[in-house]
Amino acid sequence: MYAALKVSIEGGHMQCGCGRKAIYFRRYSGEYLCRRCFAESIEKKFAHTIGRHNLIEKNEKVAVGISGGKDSSVLVHLLSRFREKFPFKMIGLTIDEGIMDYREKTQRKAEENCRTLRIEHHTFSFREELGFTLDEVSGELTHCSYCGVLRRYMLNKKARELGCTSLAVGHNLDDEAQSILMNMLRGDLGRMGRTGVTYKDISPGFVKRIKPMREIPEKEVKLFSMLENIDVDDSVCPYAGDAYRNDVRDFLNMMESRRPTTKHTILKSYDRLFPIFQQALIPETISQCEKCGEPSIGKMCKACEMREKIMAGL
Ligand code: SF4
Ligand code: ZN
Repeated sequence: MYAALKVSIEGGHMQCGCGRKAIYFRRYSGEYLCRRCFAESIEKKFAHTIGRHNLIEKNEKVAVGISGGKDSSVLVHLLSRFREKFPFKMIGLTIDEGIMDYREKTQRKAEENCRTLRIEHHTFSFREELGFTLDEVSGELTHCSYCGVLRRYMLNKKARELGCTSLAVGHNLDDEAQSILMNMLRGDLGRMGRTGVTYKDISPGFVKRIKPMREIPEKEVKLFSMLENIDVDDSVCPYAGDAYRNDVRDFLNMMESRRPTTKHTILKSYDRLFPIFQQALIPETISQCEKCGEPSIGKMCKACEMREKIMAGL
């Protein structure tokens, strides 16, 4: 990642529009940017995404999903700066899935970041809430598939229980473009109606999910965290390596290097279709899971279905 970033910082001998020495060349817009203008452009883009889509209401209580990695650490910093101009309440939420030699470190970073920014922070674990750790899970699916469903379930539940009306997550442009393409390639149309900048299910039990960093490319998130000295944990989850996502990531990076607006274009095209996807693909009524009472399309929610199978196998 660092090597890729160095390659992208091509503006050393060029000047930024403000006259200072450029440190970054933004290929998709053709701009040379100095350190200060780069940071300002990120904060501006972030605020613009929130404003354009009304992601946060004045004085509302927002939960921020914080893993301690670069995306969520940058997210909480950007939100905390945004809050200086626009008042709202914020709490940090970390889910400890139970991944040995990985989650303890990133969790510590999440706590430290929240302490520095004076943000209330809560951690909830799979072990206490669900009865097992991710390390103990074995089944026909990948660890990431279990982790994704169960973590989303817990974030929604805990955010709601803590009185939050929105849940901010740190998805960047690369994550979003990859997900959109993966849903298409896999024919997973159900998910096509749930990938937007904000997603609010019709059920009252769902907390609105918001993605204010979704227009910022991954390498700019990384550069921002370095230039602003944001303390992030670079550890990689031992289960990372979803082969499908890696293929799509490589393909998109290749396309972006040849045509440097590809990822933005995918997002824009998707956003235009999003209302249609939502109308066509989201069920009109959502009931409650008969087991846990959380919102569910079927009789039992996906998390409870998974949990039952996992518990039976333990
Ligand atoms: Fe969970 Fe997979 Fe992410 Fe690890 S890489 S935290 S298992 S989703
Ligand atoms: Zn359930």
